[in-house]
Amino acid sequence: MAEVQAKPVPVPDGISRPYWEGANLGVFRYQRCGACGKAQFYARSVCVHCQATDLQWHKAAGTGRIASFSVIHRAPIASFAADTPYVLALVDLDEGLRFMCNVLRCDPAQVRIGMPVRVCFELRPGSEQRIPQVEPA
Ligand SMILES: [Zn+2]
Repeated sequence: MAEVQAKPVPVPDGISRPYWEGANLGVFRYQRCGACGKAQFYARSVCVHCQATDLQWHKAAGTGRIASFSVIHRAPIASFAADTPYVLALVDLDEGLRFMCNVLRCDPAQVRIGMPVRVCFELRPGSEQRIPQVEPA
């Protein structure tokens, strides 16, 4: 029997490191522009709204709502097969940013657009990295 490939683990770089380190501390960090005041996700070296480079890291409250979602019945790689069916969602956090994640601790049939959720952190097996996900609020 073939060995199942491990789930992918993020490789933090100079720009994303504060985000991933925050996740390991149980904190969802995001960037906000000092010039235009808007939030952005994922981390970049310039503001996607005004191209300024005055970006600061902030801590999100971790609350938001499902903007869209899909129930995955057929895993993209073998290491996700045991999780099916699972929910892949776009979540709007209250701070004004959208991120993609899984909805945990919830029957996929119960997920709805607009459903309130809160960020939780899933330890990726075989690594020391926690992944921001959400669960029903
Ligand atoms: Zn800006």
